[in-house]
Amino acid sequence: MSIINNPKTDPNKILPMTYLWAREHYKAGVANNWTPEEVSMQKDVEQWKNPAVLSESERRMILWNLGFFSTAESLTANNIVLAVYNHVSNPESRQYLLRQAYEEAVHTDTFIYCCDSLGLDPEEIYTMYQSIPSIKMKDDFVVQLTSSIFDPHFSTNGNENIQKFLRDLIGFYVIMEGIFFYAGFAMMLALKRQGKMIGVGEQFEYIMRDESLHLAFGCDLINTIKAEFPQVWTQEFQDEVVDLIKKAVILEQNYADDACPQGLLGINAKEFKKYVEHIADRRLQRLNLPKVYNRENPFPWMSQTTDLPKEKNFFETRVTEYQTGGSLQW
Ligand code: FE
Ligand code: MN
Repeated sequence: MSIINNPKTDPNKILPMTYLWAREHYKAGVANNWTPEEVSMQKDVEQWKNPAVLSESERRMILWNLGFFSTAESLTANNIVLAVYNHVSNPESRQYLLRQAYEEAVHTDTFIYCCDSLGLDPEEIYTMYQSIPSIKMKDDFVVQLTSSIFDPHFSTNGNENIQKFLRDLIGFYVIMEGIFFYAGFAMMLALKRQGKMIGVGEQFEYIMRDESLHLAFGCDLINTIKAEFPQVWTQEFQDEVVDLIKKAVILEQNYADDACPQGLLGINAKEFKKYVEHIADRRLQRLNLPKVYNRENPFPWMSQTTDLPKEKNFFETRVTEYQTGGSLQW
């Protein structure tokens, strides 16, 4: 019995299930369903047009984050559909991957919606992943780490290839979705806490809630492969993974500096860098690897955003915090 490289797996026969966590993540994803159009952008548009509301550095920070996320969501979606899906034939995992791919489409849609409503130049936003070095370096890091499994002849047979596949999963789930998304989340949610760009901020909250599930699925998948093929999880490979995460932390800190060099009202720029270290430690622990930074969370409100349901006043805002199924408790 194994989640990859199992010749007995029938990808069309989902019952009975082996990996119940995959099913749980699927149901949690469905229960969190949302679409960007449910969030009003009216106030954001007014604030964006009003030169007195947002400072130059806040505008830069917003543009950098829209620039990074607008293409990062598609990169992630392509990796799921073109690489991960192909090699994970287990049907309950594939059911989750289909759900995640849909959520990435919703996230891509979110940035189309933001660009359209704010009247941003799509040519500028959608080329930032090539034209802004601190964004390009993050994307290139993940793409290089994962390029070998895009070879059409790649298979996950053999220890070396299982390690290559794990590198891809770590690159996308742990580094891209688990580290490279988080300085941006913290910045946009900090801005929302100041009452600025609250529509975009709310959309980032929904994306963050989705991403924390993607990360949870990714870590369960990685840890299952580790448990089923323990010979690939060598000390040398573990050291390599820790090293990759340390490099990713530096890239994310450089990005935070570049997107938000002055900090935000009440938040020193250094705190975003500490937050990245705190997040990286949590990811390492998720993979049963030792912590590196031992940083306390400088933004406790960030974990409240992902861990708790938002209690919305029905009369003040449209209720988007619906759960359509399941009984997930946040
Ligand atoms: Fe996403
Ligand atoms: Mn994702």
